Amino acid sequence: MESERVVKASNRQLVLRLLYNRQQLTRKEISDACGLSLPTVAQTIKELEELGLTADAGHQASTGGRKPSVSSIVTESRYSLGISVSKNDIRFALLNLGKEICAKASFKVSFSDGPVYWEDLRARADSFLRYNHVDASALLGVGFSFPGIINYRTRTLEFAPTLDADSVRLGKLNTYFGQNVLFDNDAVLAARTEIWFKPQKSPAVYLLLNRGVGGALISSTDCPFGARAGEFGHMVIEMGGKQCRCGNRGCLETYCSSAVLTESGEADSLEGFFSELKLGNESCARIWEDYIAHLVTGVNNIRCIFDSDVILGGEMSRFVEEYSDRLNDELLKKSIFRDDQPYVRFSNYGEFDSAVGAALLNIERFIDSI
Ligand SMILES: [Zn+2]
Repeated sequence: MESERVVKASNRQLVLRLLYNRQQLTRKEISDACGLSLPTVAQTIKELEELGLTADAGHQASTGGRKPSVSSIVTESRYSLGISVSKNDIRFALLNLGKEICAKASFKVSFSDGPVYWEDLRARADSFLRYNHVDASALLGVGFSFPGIINYRTRTLEFAPTLDADSVRLGKLNTYFGQNVLFDNDAVLAARTEIWFKPQKSPAVYLLLNRGVGGALISSTDCPFGARAGEFGHMVIEMGGKQCRCGNRGCLETYCSSAVLTESGEADSLEGFFSELKLGNESCARIWEDYIAHLVTGVNNIRCIFDSDVILGGEMSRFVEEYSDRLNDELLKKSIFRDDQPYVRFSNYGEFDSAVGAALLNIERFIDSI
C-alpha cells in the first residue's frame, strides 16, 4: 500500500508540474511528456481534479476520430506570497498556479528586527491579500528574501550588512506568518526568477544591484538553491578603496550600491536622482560617471572569469538599462574575448526579482509534495 501511495504521489507531481509549466495539454500530450500510460494519466488527472488543481478544458479540434480531451491548471486554485526585505523597503509579489504575477506592491519601511516590525509586516501582508481577494485556504504560504548569508540548519540570517543586522533568528517568522514560511538569499531567489520566467539558453551570472550587491550563477535550468550565493558584491575592485560594511575596502558594493545615489545628498530616491541627472545636475553626473565606471570594472571581471552573459537585476536595473549603450560600449572596449556583441542583459522584474523568487519557494514545495 505504501509503495502504491508513493507512486501515485509521484505521478501527481509529474503531471501537476507539467501542467504548471505548460498550463493546458491533452491527455495524450501528458502521457508522452511524462512517460505514463493513458489510463494512468486519466487516474492522475481525476485525482488532481478532485483536489481542485486541474480542470477539464473541453476537447481539442480533431483531424479525425475522437476529439482529444484537454486538461488545464486551475490558475486561481492556489496562491503564494513572496516578500523581499531590505533596509528601507519591503516588496510583495503574489503568484498563482497560472505562472502569473497577480499583484505587486512596495512600501517604505525601515528594517528593525523586533515584534513591532514583524507585526507591521504581517498586517500589511494580510491587507495585501484581502485587497487581492486571496482566501487563507488558497494561500500556500509566505516566502521571504533576505539580503545576506543564511544558515539553513539553524534558520538564522547570520550576516546581513546592508540591513545592519546579524544573527536574525528566522524561526520566529512562523509565529507571524503561519507554518508555511520559507526563505532564501535575495540574489539566489532573483536568479531563480529569471529561469522561471524563461529557461536560459546558456549559463549566465545574475548580478543583483540593490542597496546590497549580490549575485548567483545560473545554469540553463537551475542555480544554487539552499547554498551560498556568489558574493560578487564583495569582489575588491579598488585596492585600499572605500570602506565596505563587510570590513574590507574597495568592494564592488561600495561603488555600485543604490545607496551611492540615494545617499549622495542630491536626491533621496532613485527616481529623484535620475531626474536631477537628466536636468543636467553636474554633481549627479559625476556620481553617475563613477558608478558606471565601477560597474564596468565589476561586470568585466565577471566576464573574464565565467565567459558568460551577465544579467543585471534589482532596483538599479531599469535605470542602468537606460544607459545600456554607454555601458555596452565600455564593456566591449575592455573585453578580453574581443566580444563584438553585448553580453549584458537586464532582468524581467527588476526590483521585484527577489520577491517573485520568494513566492516561487512555496509553489515549488507544493508541487513537490502533492
Ligand atoms: Zn565588502
